[in-house]
Amino acid sequence: MTPKKTVDYLIIGQGLAGSLLGWRLIQQHHTVLIVDPCLKQTASRTAAGLINPITGKRLVKAPNTENQLLTARKLYKQLADFFGRPFFYEKDQIRLFQSEDEINQWNKRKSQADYRPFLAKRFSTSEKHGLKMAPLGGFEQKQCGYLDTVALLDHLRHFFLDQQCFINQHMDLDDLKISPAFIEWQGHLAKKVIFCDGHHLRHNKWFSWLPLQPVQGEILTLQSEQPVFDEIVQFGNWLLPLSNGTLKLGASWQWQPLDEKPNEKTSAELLARFYQHFPKFNSTQLLDVNVGIRPGTRDKHPFLGTHPTFSQLTVFNGFGSKGSLLIPWYSNCFLRHLTEAETLPQTVDIHRYKNDYFTG
Ligand SMILES: Cc1cc2nc3c(=O)[nH]c(=O)nc-3n(C[C@H](O)[C@H](O)[C@H](O)COP(=O)(O)OP(=O)(O)OC[C@H]3O[C@@H](n4cnc5c(N)ncnc54)[C@H](O)[C@@H]3O)c2cc1C
Repeated sequence: MTPKKTVDYLIIGQGLAGSLLGWRLIQQHHTVLIVDPCLKQTASRTAAGLINPITGKRLVKAPNTENQLLTARKLYKQLADFFGRPFFYEKDQIRLFQSEDEINQWNKRKSQADYRPFLAKRFSTSEKHGLKMAPLGGFEQKQCGYLDTVALLDHLRHFFLDQQCFINQHMDLDDLKISPAFIEWQGHLAKKVIFCDGHHLRHNKWFSWLPLQPVQGEILTLQSEQPVFDEIVQFGNWLLPLSNGTLKLGASWQWQPLDEKPNEKTSAELLARFYQHFPKFNSTQLLDVNVGIRPGTRDKHPFLGTHPTFSQLTVFNGFGSKGSLLIPWYSNCFLRHLTEAETLPQTVDIHRYKNDYFTG
């Protein structure tokens, strides 16, 4: 049993959000207690961890992507040095054109200076072994890669256990007692609570007013007898080759039901699209199906900030389908907000929703 503790921050959830924020707080000599039930299937453990700076039909790079990439690389390198193994793998990506419009868009982006570091040459599919001939071909993308989220979360969990600041338990939020000076939970005391509870936020009695838009997704793990590609391939869905010869294929988007159960129809559709583009891989073996719920938000920006009534309750959530890129950057912003009272960017501060959604 963990001895009763008095800490600066009680963190609820050890997904990528709670883990990276907890790590940063500890590095800055703040005390934390992290509570998580260690489920096998969560968004962070299901995710492929892809980082892809240029996305969508219009090939858009979000503002601040360059800084977010630098921060993510730096943090994952710091963690790799600390644990003595890599977690983030740089990997080139190829993307197949789905329409003439996308080709026009690519031509436009290629001429924009700030897109050039991310876009490489166009290719025809005959140059790429294993791909079905496609008339439109595709283009190469730079500065992509993937985070091995399961390995990272496992290493961080051991680290938190060694620091005696981790409890394997689902927290019943009714057990949290709020007083002006402290929050109390099962005899532990904290100055502030940080909810990093992913899609469970929609049932959180203090923060369910925030417009979360959770989306379930499925990812298949495949074993291939054929030698696999080196690159990540985007073809409407995506294919991620891993070093052990397995492939990840994803991901589906399902708004309802949010039951975290694999769906045979969804898996069959993913496989059918895969075989259509990669006919040579039609003897792959399905090893595993993983499901998770992305904590998306209405305006596609995360939820950071403090409860309008209870200043001891804070939230760090809503990273949608871009946690690997966004959480390193925003955990830094939130750390400075918590510890140095630095103002949060308006685009992510939950107060943007206060007038329209918070009813007290
Ligand atoms: C199918 C799929 C594919 C994805 N692909 C990518 C991708 O390629 N690239 C990318 O960057 N992102 C991807 N994502 C998104 C990514 O997973 C998320 O952005 C990120 O993992 C969210 O992390 P989180 O910590 O906020 O949430 P979660 O990982 O859901 O973590 C929340 C944690 O809180 C715990 N918790 C909840 N309530 C309580 C409670 N009451 N008490 C204690 N613990 C509690 C949960 O058990 C869980 O461990 C994908 C997600 C899915 C589902």
